[in-house]
Amino acid sequence: MLHKPAIRLLMVEDNPGDARLIQVMLQDVGGFQVTWAETLAAALDHVRDKPTDAVLLDLSLPDSHGMDTVRAVRKAAPGLPIVIFTGLDDEEVGLCAVQEGCQDYLVKGQGDENLIRRTIYYAIERKATEQALRESEDRYRGLVELSPDAILAHRDGIVVFANRQAVRLLAAAKANDLVGRPVAGLIHPESAFAVDGTSPLTDPPDAIGEASYREEALQRYDGVMVPVEVGGSPIVFEGRPAVQLVIRDITERKQAEEGLRLAATVFQTTNEAIMVSDAHNNIKAVNPAFTRVTGYMPDDVVGKTPNMLSSGRHDAEFYRQMWHHINDVGHWEGEIWNRRKTGEVFPEWLSITAIRDGDGKVLEYAAVFSDITKRKQDEERIRYQANYDALTGLPNRTLFLDRLSRAVITGRREGTMVGLLFIDLDRFKVVNDTLGHAFGDMLLEKAAKRLLGCVREADTVARLGGDEFTVILREIHRGSDAAVVAEQIVESIGKPFQLDGNEAFIGASIGITIYPNDAPDPATMLRNADMAMYKAKESGRNGYRFFTPEMDEQALTRMTLEHDLRHALHRNEFEIHYQPIIDTETEKLSGAEALVRWRHPERGLIMPADFIQVAEDTGVILEIGDWIMRDAFKQVRAWRDEGLPLFKLSVNLSSIQVKRGLTAMRTVAILQESGLPPDAVTFEITERLIMGDTRESVDWLHQVEAAGLGLSVDDFGTGYSSLSYLRKFPLDTVKIDKSFVSDVTTDPDDARLAAAVIALAHSLDLKVVGEGVETLEQLAFLRTHGCDYVQGYLFGRPMDAATFRQFLLSI
Ligand code: C2E
Ligand code: MG
Ligand code: MG
Repeated sequence: MLHKPAIRLLMVEDNPGDARLIQVMLQDVGGFQVTWAETLAAALDHVRDKPTDAVLLDLSLPDSHGMDTVRAVRKAAPGLPIVIFTGLDDEEVGLCAVQEGCQDYLVKGQGDENLIRRTIYYAIERKATEQALRESEDRYRGLVELSPDAILAHRDGIVVFANRQAVRLLAAAKANDLVGRPVAGLIHPESAFAVDGTSPLTDPPDAIGEASYREEALQRYDGVMVPVEVGGSPIVFEGRPAVQLVIRDITERKQAEEGLRLAATVFQTTNEAIMVSDAHNNIKAVNPAFTRVTGYMPDDVVGKTPNMLSSGRHDAEFYRQMWHHINDVGHWEGEIWNRRKTGEVFPEWLSITAIRDGDGKVLEYAAVFSDITKRKQDEERIRYQANYDALTGLPNRTLFLDRLSRAVITGRREGTMVGLLFIDLDRFKVVNDTLGHAFGDMLLEKAAKRLLGCVREADTVARLGGDEFTVILREIHRGSDAAVVAEQIVESIGKPFQLDGNEAFIGASIGITIYPNDAPDPATMLRNADMAMYKAKESGRNGYRFFTPEMDEQALTRMTLEHDLRHALHRNEFEIHYQPIIDTETEKLSGAEALVRWRHPERGLIMPADFIQVAEDTGVILEIGDWIMRDAFKQVRAWRDEGLPLFKLSVNLSSIQVKRGLTAMRTVAILQESGLPPDAVTFEITERLIMGDTRESVDWLHQVEAAGLGLSVDDFGTGYSSLSYLRKFPLDTVKIDKSFVSDVTTDPDDARLAAAVIALAHSLDLKVVGEGVETLEQLAFLRTHGCDYVQGYLFGRPMDAATFRQFLLSI
């Protein structure tokens, strides 16, 4: 049998008889340990110090009476069960005490010991229950108030309770703002439930389910929408049934979910391939773009390492450095070659990022890449366009200069020679002009192929533009190696070209320079070769010339000359000399040729042979030519006005003037300005002008002739024109070149030629002038053969204007 500890009962009773009776009765039933106090003071002392399970309290004590006694004891020991012990006439007081918080009451003299015992037991029991209930209520209230979730109770849809968190969640000021409001009013108007009329907020709690939470959107007092989760359960609130709602703010979770959804969408739809691998670099996930680029399905690669993509184009060191960088800096970006499922190798722009946890431990690697094949191709095309000639496919000037620099660097390092050939095609322009550009292009293409056929694999053939080509000969051992190649080129280019049924003949003029013999650097080499090429052209074309230091000097002189020439005109350095032309029969003055001179401030008088070519090359001849006409016309006009003997003025014209813009109209206009009549002037033109046979020059001849001016062909016999050819043009005079005249008395061939020219010219109704007549024998020969006019030192040298005036005065 279980031993129950005795109940420690304090009996407060001032009547010894009553006290004795109770003591006896309780002794009989057993289980009580009774202490007796006769006054309130003694009772209070006892309950303060001694453990007591219950008190049996008489309210009428010597030192206290009635309800005051109850209050005093309750104050001293609030947890102590109290049973009131009252007289028969005082039963009212007993009931009153129970209302005041006492557990029960007994009426003196009523009931047996069992009633007393039960009453005390129940009092203790009831008190314990009350205590537990209060504690549980306190605990509950604490939980509700401290809960991180909002808790609301409602009855029939009207809020009856709200905890602090609910106030905060809904941005209300205090709980009473919520209490009394309809709970449906808390639902945000955009909530899905607001539309269909049901909501976990208003549903009966059994529909919500105690365990499962449902989502809802609430509207805060400030209008902001708050996503929440709601769970509900039925409760009794203030004695009546109600519904308690636990509401959790899920804003953060929603944002995180949104972020994840966004990331997932990007992952799925981006054009960049994405590959996520774990810390051990095993592939965890790939996106559709990855499949598009590599051809691998997710199943093909997940669980494997990215090695399966490697192209083999990068060595171990490359990957080692890449991973070193990723693990060091956290990121790597660059161009890499990978292999598709098909085996095709392709370039990609790859960026790898290490994803770490809070402690810095790598969790994952994210690799993002895009296929840059097209970009690469574009770059390649641009690079090609920047470096290669579109027509021939040969390196252009840019790449040529680069190759030449490299060749020179190698040459310097290895002590070998580098040969540079500068090639200009002879007569290319003629083909281009006569057959047209399409054929010209075709010819250049074919010429390029022939050039390539003349060199070794390691050599470079480049096209600088137009019909200019270069050849770089690497690592040659002597200059003659370059000469061998040049000879081959001259021979190869010299063979006829078949151009769609047309046969074209061209040639190659080549200048050669050798590193390090002639030049220390590429720029000088190029200049040297160019110069040597010009010399090759000058000396009859279709051949090659090595660069010599003298060429350099000449070039320098020419450059200075060019510079000076540009300024000579406005510095008034030109003057015109006049040489008489004599009628052979009468030996009287018939005409005078204007011959230009350049009085150079340092170099003295420069003859036309030394500067006309340069003036033509630079185009300055146009201005000089205009000045000569104006000055000579004005002078002759002045002499005529002065009444000096009349003569016909011959003015030399360069073919360049006509080709580059001196129109017939302007020529005539200049003449008219001077006031001279057209028949006072003859233009001496070269065979070159006529041979060009272009529309412009032919028109020019006709218009000038139509205007009444004379036209004579100068230096006849030195070019390739034939007299019968000249018939086509409106000419009136032919000047036999002085090189024939000087030999007519010594060289029978020249004599025959001169005689034939005179005869033929006459048959074509042309007059003939013999140039450079220095001796009487020459004069006699020309006179015998009917030459109409003569010009030469025998009759007078070219004279400056003042001297020529004296000459005019003297005849
Ligand atoms: P060209 O038109 O044949 O002129 C005749 C050249 O023969 C002149 O040389 C003249 O001085 C020279 N000469 C005349 N008689 C004799 C002689 O008996 N013996 C020798 N040995 N020579 C004689 P120049 O003045 O030096 O002119 C050379 C060339 O320069 C000219 O040849 C002409 O083609 C060109 N030239 C001269 N002046 C002009 C000009 O104003 N405009 C243009 N475009 N060219 C000019
Ligand atoms: Mg002349
Ligand atoms: Mg002449």
